[in-house]
Amino acid sequence: MIDTKEFTVLDAMELKLPTIFALSLPELEQWCLDHQIKKYRAGQIYRWLFPMRAKSWEEMTDLPLELREKLAASFSFFTSEIESHQIASDRTEKLLLKLHDREFVECVVMREPNRTTICISTQVGCAMGCVFCASGLAGLTRNLTTAEILEQITQLDRLLDEQEKITNIVVMGIGEPLANLANLLPALERLHEGKTFNFGSRRITISTVGLPEKIRELARIGKRYSLAVSLHASNDKLRTEIVPVNKNIGIREILEAAEYYFEQTGRRVTYEYVLLSGINDSPRDAKQLVTLLKNRHAHVNLIPMNAISLLDIGGSSQETARTFSHILNDAGIVTTIRKRKGADIDAACGQLRLPKIHDQIKG
Ligand code: SAH
Repeated sequence: MIDTKEFTVLDAMELKLPTIFALSLPELEQWCLDHQIKKYRAGQIYRWLFPMRAKSWEEMTDLPLELREKLAASFSFFTSEIESHQIASDRTEKLLLKLHDREFVECVVMREPNRTTICISTQVGCAMGCVFCASGLAGLTRNLTTAEILEQITQLDRLLDEQEKITNIVVMGIGEPLANLANLLPALERLHEGKTFNFGSRRITISTVGLPEKIRELARIGKRYSLAVSLHASNDKLRTEIVPVNKNIGIREILEAAEYYFEQTGRRVTYEYVLLSGINDSPRDAKQLVTLLKNRHAHVNLIPMNAISLLDIGGSSQETARTFSHILNDAGIVTTIRKRKGADIDAACGQLRLPKIHDQIKG
């Protein structure tokens, strides 16, 4: 029998045990029944895992020692380890998580008055290759599992003050969420459960490079997730230069899929547009964007680019951003300029993982 006090994350990884966080409450109840343990114990364990934010089996003091030992012998706690934890001056916090196979992903907490938003990753690396983004510099390594996606949320939740709660989730970290829907959707489903976070779908935003078939698939599942589409250009020639996967897709297809998403879910789609100096930020680009989005149920979010050391593309000036935004607003398109968060800790996607994979990129 394993002594719970001696039992570390690494032991669990070597034993390749499933993580306890991967189990839904009914699954945990079934596990209890299968092991001659009273079903109500599952609810107790769940309370420790979610509202009580336990970090180890030892903390679960109202469970008999024998049960804690059984749990430790059957499940790992977290399967990732915190490789680094950074806190910015605006209280944005970022975790670099080391996964069981020594790959890395990042996740972030951002704070505003009355709002605590977390940003999570869905893949190790990314296959999309957007030219201004650090996440895809070394391509895609693998999809994250459902448990790994969920684990970012439970890890970040443990950084919060006692009274603080996650109010919003943005799936905007490393990777293309719609290329890993099969693992993402069950993770999000778990968040809705009353005994976990009791999180409504409207407070979850999924950001996509714009994969039309996948947008339609998401529209049909009957949830009202907020959808953000990373447009970044108002014509296909430029978009293909900035977002190479656009070559085989095209803006029109994406806008039609987004309109379908609105029809099915009643949720207005947000178009994200990273302002890149001298590339996509002229008044002409803004006017072309007006023509594209004029009669659609759209909201535009202009994003100041976060500088990436390995790239020589720069963000637009504040003045250019304001001019761009005025053109859209004057044409009746609701437009916001995103506030920068965590600039002093390189909080944009993929930047912390970069030094870890630097040799791969150079190679
Ligand atoms: N693959 C998805 C989600 C991950 S990227 C997508 O493309 O939407 C999340 C958002 O961050 C996207 O809008 C992306 O274009 C933006 N982004 C990536 N790198 C950035 C950078 N250096 N500065 C500002 N925004 C960036």
